[in-house]
Amino acid sequence: MEVFRGMGKREHEQVLFTFDPNSGYRGIVAIHDTTLGPALGGCRFWNYESEEEALIDVLRLSRAMSFKAAVAGLNLGGGKSVIIGDNNIKQREIIFRAHGRAVESLGGRYITAEDVGTSVEDMDYVHMETEHVVGILGRSGDPSPVTAYGVYRGIKACALKRYGDDSLKDRSVAIQGVGHVGYYLCENLAAEGAKLFVTDIDDTKIGKVVEDFGAEAVDADSIIEAKVDILAPCAMGAVISQETIPKLRCDIVAGAANNQLARPDQDDQALQERDILYAPDYVINAGGLINVYSELAGWTTDRSKRKAGEIYETLLAIFKVADEEKLTSADAANRIAQQRIDSVAKLHRRFT
Ligand code: NAD
Repeated sequence: MEVFRGMGKREHEQVLFTFDPNSGYRGIVAIHDTTLGPALGGCRFWNYESEEEALIDVLRLSRAMSFKAAVAGLNLGGGKSVIIGDNNIKQREIIFRAHGRAVESLGGRYITAEDVGTSVEDMDYVHMETEHVVGILGRSGDPSPVTAYGVYRGIKACALKRYGDDSLKDRSVAIQGVGHVGYYLCENLAAEGAKLFVTDIDDTKIGKVVEDFGAEAVDADSIIEAKVDILAPCAMGAVISQETIPKLRCDIVAGAANNQLARPDQDDQALQERDILYAPDYVINAGGLINVYSELAGWTTDRSKRKAGEIYETLLAIFKVADEEKLTSADAANRIAQQRIDSVAKLHRRFT
């Protein structure tokens, strides 16, 4: 792959390749856009088949971070990093210190965090080399309660759009995955009197929400086809696909999982054709990013929660643009993100 062509395609500002012969660290940091602030995004440690695959992934993911921060109203740019290799390795200190040095060399233009294949402990090693890391132990803590609150508020916005009333009392919600976010989501929904149908591949997690919130357990294979008002994917990505869309029997898809659409440029359209309202995943799950942003902005948990609550208004604005411009909700979200970046870029600077 030609690197500059790849960067030009999605308008990236900078890509840093770093090799550390001693540790074998092979890392790529992609900075998509820093108009709004420093580029923030996690570090993915993955055994990519090729360097090209790693580069495409980091370019794609970093752009998505620009849009996510922009829609959430945060002063952050979009960035991401990948480390090529086996993420099960036991000797992690040197690899992650090498990553920390690569991050440090960017002087704060990129801030790293955990992602697939990396942990809070790995970020402690990164922190030995740079201050430009978030999500380390003892700082903003577990993002799941804030993420879940944002998803809950987003579901209410969807209900208002779909039913003309945002109350979730007696609304049926199927939750796929009751791990960190799913559990807290159930808590929020149950407090409002929603009827919960839950599944997980881990029976103990199901048992907990059945016991704590009176949820009804559903077979993992059939949750997609559950006849409910709202389906909330809170486990893995690509659950909304060519195969599953015809089987859906819900009015709304709104959940925490990242990359819910298997074919991002087609499945939003397919959902719309089936008259299913879709809350773009990166908009409704922005609470996680808001939570780490609190480390940089010095926000209290209450303030982060309040910001995550604004996902309600953000989604309603997205649905309005989608209606007016005849776009899918996902396209409308991208448009709103790009507009915010463009308007901030054009802010007139005055000499003082
Ligand atoms: P988690 O690992 O704690 O929970 C996921 C749960 O899904 C687990 O309990 C797992 O057993 C279950 N699961 C996996 N495969 C399943 C399947 N096929 N069917 C049913 N259940 C299955 O993760 P989490 O932190 O709760 O995150 C959930 C999703 O939300 C992920 O996609 C994550 O990327 C996304 N997300 C999380 C946050 C956050 O703050 N944690 C923020 C933004 C996005």
